[in-house]
Amino acid sequence: MSQFLKKMAPVVKTFDYLVIGGGSGGLASARRAAEFGIKAAVVEEARWGGTCVNVGCVPKKVMFNTAMHAEFIHDHKGYGFDVELKGFDWGAVKKSRDAYIKRLNGIYETNLEKSQVEKITGHAHFTEDKCVEVNGQKYAANHILIASGGRPTIPNIPGAEHGINSDGFFELDDLPKKVVVVGAGYIAVELAGIFGALGSDTSLLIRYDQVLRTFDSSISKAVTDNLEPGGVKLKRKTQVKKVSKESDGTLTLDTTTGIIDGVNCLLWAIGRRPNSDTLGLEKIGVNVDKQGNIIVDEYQNTNVPGVYSLGDVCGKALLTPVAIAAGRRLSHRLFEGKKDLKLNYSNIPTVVFSHPPVGTIGLTEDEATAKYGRDNVKVYNSNFVPMYYAILEHKSRCVMKLVCALPDEKVVGLHMIGQGCDEMLQGFGVAIKMGATKAQFDECVAIHPTSSEELVTMR
Ligand SMILES: Cc1cc2nc3c(=O)[nH]c(=O)nc-3n(C[C@H](O)[C@H](O)[C@H](O)COP(=O)(O)OP(=O)(O)OC[C@H]3O[C@@H](n4cnc5c(N)ncnc54)[C@H](O)[C@@H]3O)c2cc1C
Repeated sequence: MSQFLKKMAPVVKTFDYLVIGGGSGGLASARRAAEFGIKAAVVEEARWGGTCVNVGCVPKKVMFNTAMHAEFIHDHKGYGFDVELKGFDWGAVKKSRDAYIKRLNGIYETNLEKSQVEKITGHAHFTEDKCVEVNGQKYAANHILIASGGRPTIPNIPGAEHGINSDGFFELDDLPKKVVVVGAGYIAVELAGIFGALGSDTSLLIRYDQVLRTFDSSISKAVTDNLEPGGVKLKRKTQVKKVSKESDGTLTLDTTTGIIDGVNCLLWAIGRRPNSDTLGLEKIGVNVDKQGNIIVDEYQNTNVPGVYSLGDVCGKALLTPVAIAAGRRLSHRLFEGKKDLKLNYSNIPTVVFSHPPVGTIGLTEDEATAKYGRDNVKVYNSNFVPMYYAILEHKSRCVMKLVCALPDEKVVGLHMIGQGCDEMLQGFGVAIKMGATKAQFDECVAIHPTSSEELVTMR
C-alpha cells in the first residue's frame, strides 16, 4: 500500500466539492453549493456553459427564430404588407449568434468568479485514490460530481466522416443548397425544419414511418405530416449504406431506397452518447450501463460513496432544466442538510421546436392505457385552425390532447402541436404537477381569442 501511494502524484489542492463539467448541471450545482459557504471548483475542458449554450438549446433557438422569420415573411402579404424579399444572409445571423454565445461564455465565467467557485481548465479523469487529475495536477474533494454531458454519434458505415453532426451545424458558414438530415428524434426534426424553412433543398431520412416515435401518437403523426409543408422531404424506411465524396465536393449517398447525389451537407442526428469513457471511472469502480450511461439512484448517488452524477451523462431526460434542477437539489441535499431533496423525474414538460412547435408533458395515451387500463382512461382531442391563419391562404392546424385518468379525470398527459404551443406549456405544467383534474382545468375561465383557451374548454 505504501509502495502504491508513493508512486502517486501529490494532491495540489483539496475542495469540499469538485465538479467535472462546466455545463448546465455542473455550473448550477457548483454555484448553489458555494451559496452555502462550500469551497467548490468546476473542471471544464471546452467552453463554459456546455452543450446548451454552445452547441445546443441556445444557438438552436436563435436558428429556430430565424426560421420563424422566414415563415412570417410568407404571411406578410395576407396581412396587407407589400414586402419584397431580397435575400437571406446566413453569415450575418451566424456572426450575431456567435457573438451572443461568446458573451454568454463570459457571463458564465464571471458568475463563477462572483460565486467564488474555482475554475479549472482541462480534461479531468480519476486516479486510483479517488482524486481528480487535470493537466497533471491532482485535486482531492470530499464530494465529487460527474456532470460531463454527452456528444453526438455518427454511424459506422463507409464515408460517414463526410457528414457533420449537430455540433457541425453551428459551424456552417453558409446555408447549404442541398441537405440530407438523418434521424427521427427531436434534434433531427428541429434542424431539418430550420434548413427547410430557410430554403435549403432538405430531405429527412428516417428508418421507420414516423418521426418522434416515443411521443404521443397524435404528436408523432402531426409532426411527420407537417414536415413536407415545412419544406422537408421525408424519405421513410431509408438508411444510408455508404457516403462518397465527389470531385466537385458534393456527396453521393447510397441508401436502402436509392441514390441521393449532389448533397452539399449531410447531417447525422442519430443519437448521443455519454461522455463517460475517458473519465477513468474504472479506476474507482463507478458503474455504467451498456451504453456507458453512469448509473445513479434517485438521489444522484453513484455506487461509489462521495461520487455523484447527473445530467446527460446519466442518459435520462436529456434536457438542460433537468440537469440544472438535479444539480441544485443535490447541493441543497449535500450542503444545506435537506437530506430528502431530490429531483422528481415525472411530468417533465418538453418542447420540440418543430414547425409548428410541440409541447408535451406526462403520459402518452398508450402509456396511460398500459398503466390504468383502457376503461380507466378518458381522452379529449381537439383539432382546429388557429385564428392567426383565418385570413391567410395557407393553414397550419393545432392538435391538442388531454389524457385523463378516471375516476376523477386527473390530467396525466397533455400533448399539443401548433403555433404558440412552445410558450403555452409551462403554466399547464404547473397545474399537472399539482395533480389538476379536467374539472379544475375547466374551472379556469378561457382567455379569448387564443389557442390555449381550447385546453380549458375541451368536451
Ligand atoms: C442540438 C441540441 C439542441 C438541444 N436543445 C435543447 C433544448 O431546446 N432544450 C433543452 O432543455 N435541452 C436541449 N438540449 C439538451 C441540453 O443541451 C443538454 O441536456 C444539457 O446541456 C445537459 O447538461 P449537462 O450539464 O448534463 O451536460 P453539458 O451541458 O453537455 O456539459 C458537460 C460539460 O462537461 C465537459 N466535459 C466533459 N468531459 C469532461 C472532462 N473529462 N473534463 C472536463 N470537462 C469535461 C464538456 O466539455 C461540457 O462542457 C439540446 C442538445 C442539443 C445537442
